[in-house]
Amino acid sequence: MKIGVIGGGQLGRMLALAGTPMGMQFIFLDPAADACAAAVGAQICADYNDHEHLRQLADQVDLVTFEFENVPAETVAFLSQYVPVFPCADALRVARDRLNEKTLFQQLQIPVAPFAAIESQVELDRAIQVIGLPAVLKTRTLGYDGKGQKVLRTTADVTDAYAELGSVPSILETFVHFTGEVSLLAVRSRHGEIRAYPLVHNTHEQGILRLSLPSNDHVLQTLAETYVTSVLEHLDYVGVLAFEFFEFNGGLFANEIAPRVHNSGHWTIEGAECSQFENHLRAVTGLPLGSTSKLGESAMINFIGTVPEVEALAAIEDCHFHHYGKSFKNGRKVGHGTIRSQSAERMLQQLTKLKALV
Ligand code: AMP
Repeated sequence: MKIGVIGGGQLGRMLALAGTPMGMQFIFLDPAADACAAAVGAQICADYNDHEHLRQLADQVDLVTFEFENVPAETVAFLSQYVPVFPCADALRVARDRLNEKTLFQQLQIPVAPFAAIESQVELDRAIQVIGLPAVLKTRTLGYDGKGQKVLRTTADVTDAYAELGSVPSILETFVHFTGEVSLLAVRSRHGEIRAYPLVHNTHEQGILRLSLPSNDHVLQTLAETYVTSVLEHLDYVGVLAFEFFEFNGGLFANEIAPRVHNSGHWTIEGAECSQFENHLRAVTGLPLGSTSKLGESAMINFIGTVPEVEALAAIEDCHFHHYGKSFKNGRKVGHGTIRSQSAERMLQQLTKLKALV
């Protein structure tokens, strides 16, 4: 089976690494000449709205999926004329726009922090009167890793905030004094089967995910699964979806969804019976889903900017390291390491050794 993937970064690369043993072949469409997924599949080097090359991709594959959701809706519509596309255009339309996302959460009665749509400084000033400070102003589209957002703590921060964020449609949210951030990765097959991985505790530094710790029997697991199931079914979603939440007051506030495999699920490569990457491919190709149960105790650390010395990583027992083969750059995710051990105590010991390298 030939799979077309929109985007050729590390997520695409790890999809191909999971799918190749299942006899799948991959073609990535990405405008970057140095797309790191090209090491494990073919690449069409073209823009996401280049119809000629999108058509070329559609003609060569059995289906198309995404490792990157910020593609024009029109690209999805174009591809869908020629080849099955998963997840569907509707899921991407919701996930790429924070206002659509929050509106859907409200419609499905999933709690969200108070928010307002903002299209000018005047609207921002008015919304601050209602929402109060501190608050977070976020662009509706194209934000990632903390980019495209600004925390507003004082009235001075508010004064030119709309222009400072680029004068683009945005949303203002209450700043949530959360007790933790968790994500739930779930997968829905073409036949409607749904499975979820254990909730993952995530720690961010400067807006970028640094550490993911999958939990055991989290008290909010069932609640999170209820929320993700309603989104998956509402959107008739096929594939892996990541749902990010704030833990607040003993419950959950929905933050955002990503319609794709997700960084907080990388631990599943070694730490679960069936990884998020394999399960995404099983889902989109119509295969039965694999088990989402944990194998032992895991933790994942992102390598940001640079990858530690390979010799030092290899010297840590229970450490599985992934080097994405990308050029090094400040703030860029260039690899990750997962510790997977038989006991929580041993995992934390080995994690301390890995932390010392990053
Ligand atoms: P996002 O791109 O929405 O996931 O935001 C990136 C990170 O900024 C989140 O993981 C949080 O750590 C922080 N953040 C985002 N929105 C809020 C909020 N409303 N209140 C507090 N922290 C936030």
